[in-house]
Amino acid sequence: MNEQLCEACGTGPGAIEDLDAEPPQTWCFGCAEVLLTIGDPVTRYRELAGGGAEYTRQLRERGTTETLRFR
Ligand SMILES: [Zn+2]
Repeated sequence: MNEQLCEACGTGPGAIEDLDAEPPQTWCFGCAEVLLTIGDPVTRYRELAGGGAEYTRQLRERGTTETLRFR
């Protein structure tokens, strides 16, 4: 399996893959965290090995899990 690199900075290991982008865009944890900080987080994504689980934790801590509420 090839390691995916962040498409924003080109150096960080992929943490998440933005599924709302076409084609899906890879973000490293650092770049994804910036989006989280400015209030425009990626909420539809696939976790990658470079920090996806940590990103999910950060997203939950900021209370932006509305889109994950399934019934
Ligand atoms: Zn990056």
